[in-house]
Amino acid sequence: MNIHEYQAKQLLAKFGAPISAGFPAFTAEEAEAAAKQLPGPVYVVKSQIHAGGRGKGRFNGLGADAKGGVRVVKSVEEVKTNAAEMLGRVLVTHQTGDAGKQVNRLYIEAGAPIAKEYYLSLLVDRAVGRIAFVVSTEGGMDIEEVAEHTPEKIHTISIDPASGFMPHHGRGIAAALKLEGDLAKQAAKIAQQLYTAFKTTDAALLEVNPLVETTDGKLIVLDAKMGFDGNALFRHPDIMELRDLSEEDAMEIEASKYDLAYVKLDGNIGCMVNGAGLAMATMDIIKLNGAEPANFLDVGGGATKEKVTAAFKIILNDPAVEGILVNIFGGIMRCDIIAEGIVAAAREVNLSVPLVVRLEGTNVELGKQILADSGLPIVSADNLGDAAKKIVAQVKKAA
Ligand code: ADP
Ligand code: MG
Repeated sequence: MNIHEYQAKQLLAKFGAPISAGFPAFTAEEAEAAAKQLPGPVYVVKSQIHAGGRGKGRFNGLGADAKGGVRVVKSVEEVKTNAAEMLGRVLVTHQTGDAGKQVNRLYIEAGAPIAKEYYLSLLVDRAVGRIAFVVSTEGGMDIEEVAEHTPEKIHTISIDPASGFMPHHGRGIAAALKLEGDLAKQAAKIAQQLYTAFKTTDAALLEVNPLVETTDGKLIVLDAKMGFDGNALFRHPDIMELRDLSEEDAMEIEASKYDLAYVKLDGNIGCMVNGAGLAMATMDIIKLNGAEPANFLDVGGGATKEKVTAAFKIILNDPAVEGILVNIFGGIMRCDIIAEGIVAAAREVNLSVPLVVRLEGTNVELGKQILADSGLPIVSADNLGDAAKKIVAQVKKAA
């Protein structure tokens, strides 16, 4: 689960990290009121969406010369007019895709006098099983580009969980950022604060880009992107409250209600599978047969009728879906029960696209018989390869 920049900053401030003064705003009036509480004379109006690259982003419906999603302005009045222009508009950045994201909230922040921008992030490095810092002197820009053109400017420092964050880690991070004296001390302290915040909140990602050095020699967290491990959220009800459902895919939210693991993809063949590994294999074999999966969907071990029905509805809600491939292994659940579930669900949702079903496991013959006797246009398949060929052919035929 991801949170907004202002939420991440408020959270990091609790751990002592230095941030600029600022307030969230949902209307132009709130933006004006927020600006009046800031010292001025420079204010920044920042779009709050769950995507980076806002500064260089473009608003739909505004000319190419209009300012982006992060605007530095010089008066309270300008804060208000810019807020009015930005709120409710769709912002397109290199991270949102062409569809962009609607800006529903802003963060009004005191302008910082920037001398230099740095990059600092924390993530879970699964290869070594440690929390790692990734830092670079090249802040403010796309870190992917730095990685591609000047990889030697990116440094990784991982923390042994047995020792935790040690003073030498802080010094190493400061040195990688080429900081000395008091700035090095500040960097080490901020690194320690961010590490504690990351670990305490079960974060999965914390990206500060940029961490800035001001003209008066202070380091500030100027942008913050934070994501959390969904499996650990039950331990953090306060963070769960920060969830912004308007940032998430409506069908993915619906799927989570039924405990279905669903991720929407770009293809036209809907997949319903039990088990994540089998789901991956199913997606692979669809691609091998020259088509694209419309989704990843794992109905889990206990594929009950309720779950299968909910899964059908979610798949069919996607207008791109032109056929469905059900690939279920009856281990925990018997194939005949699954077949009954599929038939009942197909009737209930008035299935209008071709459906290929591959069942395997306990009572598979009985399951196939139930599908055949249903009178529904369900195509049975014998194995994974056969199933993929059949659904791809059915979709091509219908097109
Ligand atoms: P994004 O990464 O989504 O574009 P940022 O928060 O990093 O958004 O803002 C983009 C740029 O805008 C920063 O690199 C920085 O140069 C400038 N900026 C952001 N916040 C402030 C601020 N409070 N004061 C001055 N400049 C800012
Ligand atoms: Mg940024």
